Amino acid sequence: MKQYTILGGGIAGLSTAIALKQKGIQATVFEAAPAIKPLGAGLLLAANAVKGYQHLGIAEKIIARGKLLPTFSIFDQQGRVITSADAAKIGQKYGLHNFAIHRAELHEALLAELEPGQVQTGKRAAGFERLSDGGLEVRFADGSTHRTDYLVVAEGIHSAIRRQLLPDSEQRYAGYTCWRAVVETPPSLKGLYVASETWGPDGRFGIVPLAGDKVYWFACVDAPQNDPVRSIFKVADLQQVFCRFHQPVRDILENTRDHDLIWGDIIDLKPISKFAFGNIVLIGDAAHATTPNLGQGACQAIEDAVVLADELGKNTDPAEAFVAFERRRMERVHFVVNNSWRLGKIAQLSQPWLAGLRNILFRLVPESVNERQLKALLEVDF
Ligand SMILES: Cc1cc2nc3c(=O)[nH]c(=O)nc-3n(C[C@H](O)[C@H](O)[C@H](O)COP(=O)(O)OP(=O)(O)OC[C@H]3O[C@@H](n4cnc5c(N)ncnc54)[C@H](O)[C@@H]3O)c2cc1C
Repeated sequence: MKQYTILGGGIAGLSTAIALKQKGIQATVFEAAPAIKPLGAGLLLAANAVKGYQHLGIAEKIIARGKLLPTFSIFDQQGRVITSADAAKIGQKYGLHNFAIHRAELHEALLAELEPGQVQTGKRAAGFERLSDGGLEVRFADGSTHRTDYLVVAEGIHSAIRRQLLPDSEQRYAGYTCWRAVVETPPSLKGLYVASETWGPDGRFGIVPLAGDKVYWFACVDAPQNDPVRSIFKVADLQQVFCRFHQPVRDILENTRDHDLIWGDIIDLKPISKFAFGNIVLIGDAAHATTPNLGQGACQAIEDAVVLADELGKNTDPAEAFVAFERRRMERVHFVVNNSWRLGKIAQLSQPWLAGLRNILFRLVPESVNERQLKALLEVDF
């Protein structure tokens, strides 16, 4: 029996392990973290991701842990609507849309679908060798090795295996840095069902209600990469940056403690033109990390899981399945990466007159244009 190995126990790795299991393939997952802990912030999953989990038969269990949000709106800093999308209407065409979940809840739901011991933690892959019998040997940072026939690389944007395969692959800094947190919903926002972003010249602030009276927020501000000043920002510093933003933003920051903050620069992977390398395939952020502006990184990782399993079911030679996967996914994920990059530049405009002009133009975008963009993002090929 041929052995399959998945490197990385994030959304891509765990979703793929589930999808492969349904095709009768029991893959071992090696995860670098010493334990899979309830870390991270929130996540919005769009209709294409929900479709992916429906395809795998696990959508109901995941939806039960999160919150479906009927609307997504973009506001200016005074709280006036720039644009708004009706998730219920979108849902009629593309299926359940605008679903918010805490990352820890999603991880728990995915892990529950796997066999005990299928995910081995504390195993950071450092590299691989091709063996004379056609197999692969993965080397781990702890000095141990593992032999496998097929390798699915889901290690995220900093993937060690991708760097070995494609030493020239490049991470790009988007020009803005980001804070995230999950906090108790402030009293003024109880019963909030609108996911939103607020765009102002000083930055961008996203609010996503979660299940259990929690709210996930993120804030993006233009800054140099690895800025030592921003890296030690406290809530009080963010309150100063966003002091001109409408009340919900200020109330949420008021409810946030310094230790709630998760900080990181926004980076993506400059599009690469190869995911399949014989008996190795790259998926998720390891293959196509995107900026978060379209909320599609995890959604595309979930699509990867479904498409990879589908191709392994259709092709007798797994290496051919990996090539078929690459063919099916490449154009779509590049579309997401490129459009998300562009949207980020527009959303982060910091000159007040340009930001004002942008808001006017966004309000004028015809329904048919929005509809075309949604179709391109939300329609799946499975
Ligand atoms: C601020 C922000 C907000 C976002 N919001 C959304 C959103 O709302 N909706 C959405 O769809 N997407 C969103 N994304 C994108 C989403 O988080 C990623 O696309 C998604 O997590 C990718 O999953 P992954 O499993 O490919 O990679 P990761 O989540 O990075 O997981 C990789 C896993 O591999 C492990 N690992 C790393 N190196 C090794 C190694 N050498 N050996 C073994 N294991 C290793 C890591 O510990 C990790 O567990 C957001 C991203 C950011 C930065």
